[in-house]
Amino acid sequence: MPFENTYTQLPDICYSRVIAARVPRPRLLAWNQPLAEELGLVDLGGDAEQLAQWFSGNTPLPGSEPIALAYAGHQFGNFVPQLGDGRAVLLGEVRAGDGRRYDIQLKGSGPTPYSRQGDGKAALGPVLREYLVSEAMHRLGIPTTRALAMVATGERVYREQPLPGAVLTRVAASHIRIGTFEYLAARNDKTALQALVELAIERHYPAVSEAERPVVGLFREVVRAQARLVAQWMSVGFIHGVMNTDNVAISGQTLDYGPCAFMDAFDYHQVFSSIDRMGRYAYGRQPQIQHWNLARLAEALLPLGDPPEVFEEALGEFPSLFEEAFRTAMGHKLGLAVVRKEDEALINAWLQLLQDEQRDFTLSFRQLAERLEGEGEPLFGEFESGWRKRVLDQGLDAATVRRNMDAVNPLYIPRNHLVERAIEAAMAGDLSVFQELEEVLQNPFVEQPGKAELARPPSPEEMVIQTFCGT
Ligand code: AMP
Ligand code: MG
Repeated sequence: MPFENTYTQLPDICYSRVIAARVPRPRLLAWNQPLAEELGLVDLGGDAEQLAQWFSGNTPLPGSEPIALAYAGHQFGNFVPQLGDGRAVLLGEVRAGDGRRYDIQLKGSGPTPYSRQGDGKAALGPVLREYLVSEAMHRLGIPTTRALAMVATGERVYREQPLPGAVLTRVAASHIRIGTFEYLAARNDKTALQALVELAIERHYPAVSEAERPVVGLFREVVRAQARLVAQWMSVGFIHGVMNTDNVAISGQTLDYGPCAFMDAFDYHQVFSSIDRMGRYAYGRQPQIQHWNLARLAEALLPLGDPPEVFEEALGEFPSLFEEAFRTAMGHKLGLAVVRKEDEALINAWLQLLQDEQRDFTLSFRQLAERLEGEGEPLFGEFESGWRKRVLDQGLDAATVRRNMDAVNPLYIPRNHLVERAIEAAMAGDLSVFQELEEVLQNPFVEQPGKAELARPPSPEEMVIQTFCGT
């Protein structure tokens, strides 16, 4: 495997060398061949037994230099100076067809120096959830880490009960988090902090190295990327669930799928995570929280000497960047080719209607689009006529607007009850439910024959009201 290992060129404080634990009976449950091809790993495919050995960590992948990364983080608002990869190892980086480097990481492959009291392992449920949801996010066009492989370990892991263990192979633009900077800032290690900044710039925002203040330049790019990302999450009803600073990647990819969820009925205040009792990371609070997290990143970069005012100025752009990105995404979902500031009233009226009537967020956009060609039910009362006038005033015919809407409004999302169903079946040894869902989610915008069951919202009995991080 053509590994590069740039992270190990950072000062030693940034990582620890580790060896993945051996597992008794690795078995390949899923292999993402299209992703393997994008990464230029075509020669690896084929032999399921060999893949299971490599991607459980049982046999070291040739060329890999397994390390666990150190980081800190603000968890639910409180600073924790020492976190780090407690159940993950970075095997190395590969250069993909797009010319960029990607991290190949095993998640759930045993203890590391950062495991604290944890066992370093993962249960099948959370691994399967991350595989499904991260791949679905990618197909929805949202920046995210991806899933290359899912391997059962043949071992039990002990949570509240014994559960089957598994290892996920995660692919990321990098695993550099806000918390990685916080870790070095808290130790006042300016040399390592500077080296990390340079690595981050080179890897994610190379144009910034020419800027007058590259550190602030990096910060500004992260602010922009995160404003766009949160707007994209919200445009598909996604709730991350644990937006701690250790779960915020500076690449702008969605990172760490724990108790995340897609909402069914629209509710601005929706929370699923069992550990989020205060609703800190509710759907509608995500922009404020990311703004707060970015302030923590600014603080961690201050020791490198740029004046606080320039960080403040860059940070201050977040709310308007988010609002613009959200308005644009929502406007497109409502069929507007060009979204204006004044369209906010229309967007707000729509969201209010969904909220008041507890409509299914995902399907409502598809149902509204049907109305353009006189199909479906007149579900949306007075809103419909004002909206219809606005979209048809664009000089586009109804069929075109409908097509544009259907191209950005998914029919299939990884709804909680579907993910739960796939997990339950997999735990009983049946992977077909996972496989069917995974395949349908590869084309979320296109109606697929015989798959209506995977598009519909849950019945009251099927509703999942709480998700767990599974750590
Ligand atoms: P997360 O919930 O994935 O964001 O993890 C928060 C922190 O807890 C990270 O430092 C993880 O590496 C660590 N952690 C989570 N689960 C485990 C586990 N089973 N064993 C060791 N460390 C863990
Ligand atoms: Mg995490």
